[in-house]
Amino acid sequence: MSAPLIGIPCFATRHPRTQRPLYANNRAYAHAISRAGGIPLFIPPQADEALDDVSATLCLRLDGLLLSGGADIDPSFYGEARLPVCEATEPERDRLELALTRQALQSGTPIFGICRGMQLLNVACGGGLYQDLPTQAPESQRHTWGDADHPRDFRAHSIEVTPGSRLATLLGDATTYQVNSLHHQAVSRVGEGLTITARSPDGVVEGMELRDHPYALAVQFHPEELAPTDPASHALFVAFVEACAHR
Ligand code: MN
Repeated sequence: MSAPLIGIPCFATRHPRTQRPLYANNRAYAHAISRAGGIPLFIPPQADEALDDVSATLCLRLDGLLLSGGADIDPSFYGEARLPVCEATEPERDRLELALTRQALQSGTPIFGICRGMQLLNVACGGGLYQDLPTQAPESQRHTWGDADHPRDFRAHSIEVTPGSRLATLLGDATTYQVNSLHHQAVSRVGEGLTITARSPDGVVEGMELRDHPYALAVQFHPEELAPTDPASHALFVAFVEACAHR
């Protein structure tokens, strides 16, 4: 059997020296998929008029969809006015990812959502987000790390995982797990069909799974940064790639 093809949508950026426009994503996602036996395929944003055809075609060809971390999702997609604390958004990427996710939800294509990717899955299912945790949930602990003193794999807080959930099983039946944390937004209203499977001690949603779908798992932390040194995070990618192989 050939290795499964995993689509990873990209964002727009610029070359740091020439300012030439680029489409890109963090290579840690590609490496994590490769190490787990999958073939990562970066997908650029598409012209709006082509989006329906492109996302339908991609869904037929891809074996799985990895929704990665990234910029804030435009609040218009979850029915809210933008607050000043919401950071720059990329509606072109939002539209690509929402179209691909809706196709994957319909067709049963495996989905792995990470950070923004979990939020995107929630929004695609009709859920909502905190636009900024420190402002809208001031009692929450610090979730934005990854500064000069704290690398992206810094284990900032614990999560409590629901026993019996797919996430708990993949983490070796652990009920707690120490995670990195690189987000200022979080899930608020839970989308239709989703179950919360992990929370940080302050109650912030850190894991979700979709009922009535072959495989849709999402986490708020960044297992792609932990996977090179942590077998449990690597196991999340192995399970996803295996689900894609058996699609
Ligand atoms: Mn967190």
